[in-house]
Amino acid sequence: MVEFEQILKSRGYRLTNQRRVIAHELEGERHLSAEEIYDRVKHGHPEMGLSTVYRTLDLLTELGIVRKDDFGEGYSRYELATERMHHHARCEVCGNVIEFNEELMEYLALQVERETGFVTDWHEITLHGRCAKCAS
Ligand SMILES: [Zn+2]
Ligand SMILES: [Zn+2]
Repeated sequence: MVEFEQILKSRGYRLTNQRRVIAHELEGERHLSAEEIYDRVKHGHPEMGLSTVYRTLDLLTELGIVRKDDFGEGYSRYELATERMHHHARCEVCGNVIEFNEELMEYLALQVERETGFVTDWHEITLHGRCAKCAS
């Protein structure tokens, strides 16, 4: 939490209660949608509306504190960006999201560069399929 406060402060923002509460929810669970965060905080924080949650998430995303993920559901999911870069595999049956690390994708980007000369600056990959439980 100290880290968010420093990032916010260095950009001239305060760590308001709303920002702290939302960051705290994302510390507890990754890949939450704005609606899911709203559902979790609305009882303890009735002053916080869904639009506040969206606004706060937009700000935290802009500041690089939160990362926005698109799993093709028609809405975004959010997670703290302070952890290592990783990619996602999403189960289309139960919605479970599995994270996997960067190295395989880096290898792929190098292969593409070797074959086509294309230089990859960044990549973000989501695999769609079935998790081990749903596939069996
Ligand atoms: Zn599954
Ligand atoms: Zn993730």
